[in-house]
Amino acid sequence: MPKYIFVGGGVMSGIGKGVATASIGRILKSKGFRVTAIKIDPYINVDAGTMNPVEHGEVFVTEDGVECDQDIGNYERFLDENIFTDNYMTTGRVYQSVINRERNLEYNGKCVEVVPDIPNEVISRIKKAGKKVKADFVLIEIGGTVGEYQNLLFLEAVRMLKLQYPKDILFVLVSYLPVPKLLGEMKTKPTQYAVRTLNSAGIQPDIILARASVPLDEPRKRKISNFCNVLLEDVISAPDIKSIYEVPINFEKENLGNRILRKFGLKSKPSDLKEWGSLVKTIKNTKKKVKIGIVGKYFETGKFTLMDSYISIIEAVKHATYSFGAKPEITWLSAEKYEKDAKTVKELKSFNGIIVPGGFGNRGIEGKIKAIEFCRKQKIPFLGLCLGMQLATIEFARHVCGIKNASSREFSKTCDPIIDVMPEQKVLLKEKKYGGTMRLGAYDCEIKSKTKSFEAYRKNMISERHRHRYELNNDYREILEKKGLTMSGINPQKDLVEIIELSNHPFFMATQFHPEFKSRPLRPHPLFKAFIKASLK
Ligand code: GLN
Repeated sequence: MPKYIFVGGGVMSGIGKGVATASIGRILKSKGFRVTAIKIDPYINVDAGTMNPVEHGEVFVTEDGVECDQDIGNYERFLDENIFTDNYMTTGRVYQSVINRERNLEYNGKCVEVVPDIPNEVISRIKKAGKKVKADFVLIEIGGTVGEYQNLLFLEAVRMLKLQYPKDILFVLVSYLPVPKLLGEMKTKPTQYAVRTLNSAGIQPDIILARASVPLDEPRKRKISNFCNVLLEDVISAPDIKSIYEVPINFEKENLGNRILRKFGLKSKPSDLKEWGSLVKTIKNTKKKVKIGIVGKYFETGKFTLMDSYISIIEAVKHATYSFGAKPEITWLSAEKYEKDAKTVKELKSFNGIIVPGGFGNRGIEGKIKAIEFCRKQKIPFLGLCLGMQLATIEFARHVCGIKNASSREFSKTCDPIIDVMPEQKVLLKEKKYGGTMRLGAYDCEIKSKTKSFEAYRKNMISERHRHRYELNNDYREILEKKGLTMSGINPQKDLVEIIELSNHPFFMATQFHPEFKSRPLRPHPLFKAFIKASLK
């Protein structure tokens, strides 16, 4: 039977529970254990696919095609393991399956109740996910903050599971300790309240990860230990740091891995974080920089810039750049600006490489097309992702093939739909079946020899993750190819274009799939590597 480690948050959201969970996972894996991680999101949505990225952050896609929370991406990156459907739960998902079972008479005529039937469903999903990969440790991150109404049923599941297996459950509270400017002193009271609230749900934290702008000092550690009923050595300092990849190393400085083992009554074991450590050294020491611009639209929220919407792309750029011993300097460029004032697109000249990422709807489309045209003509390394590929094809059709009305059916009723809706999608859209119905997850792609794509992948058959409803219209393939657009990747089952590239350009490549989802810190994605290599030149 696996050991279960629950991770919950205290005081406020956004303090890095996901990275903390992923880092604990990395540490345990480096000690030779089999680890998996589960994300619980308390919202009613069945998955993240229907949510606005500005509100929720990136929608991550797994191999088996679940549109889920970006934290699953953190788990995959830190654990270097694929995570599947069973490891993602939302309130909506849990209720949906309980209700479906009730409708199938699977509760044998019994009255189905919120407690214990909902927590029981949560528990059975956790067990199933652990069993599937024969995990030694299952990490379960509970979204939200202790004390809110939404995640109570999940905490109830923890309490019930602990009753069944008192020795196999650990609760880690990631809490925040503010240092108010006026006081200049770190305050522990909010964390004390968080622990009280957790206590009232029947749970006592075993370990407290103390997130703060600065490291925790001895008096504060003692205070938390005393007031929160946690051993001194189980109060772990987790100060702000520049790179998330440093978190496992910092936790290990506090001996977190072996603390966890000892709490489960297991023997201490050394961690092997050598490779990870040298990655962190590169990140901290390199002076070499590459300037990458991302032309997008999901990063403005009021007066703040939200990076979460493109988190996998950012991380993929970082991984590839680190592998060349350099660091990226990423700038957010607003597609809409190029629409309003065409001249401003010239600013792209000051970048080493430009990415046009995925997206939906027609806001900012023409601006993105202007940016792509500029990159093509000025020979600036360019990488287009999903919508980025569709727009690169439209740009090429309009300005190289002379098809003036070239567009996508997603945003126009054009007579030249270079990008068209996939036939099976037409029905779904008509019936308003939007949730979880795109072309999702991993599909094969055959790579043509003697292309830049082949140079990057060094193999003829690959598989990448998708999330789209529209595709390159095969009726226009001949003219596009004749005018010099290389279709270097094709899905063999359905004959869909997956990669386009230009041979007479230092680097101009775009993919219908999302390579960013498969990039890992120590195994950067080949296409991102090729893009960064060209950008460094
Ligand atoms: N909106 C486009 C489609 O659905 C592209 C999707 C994306 O960029 N992920 O095909």
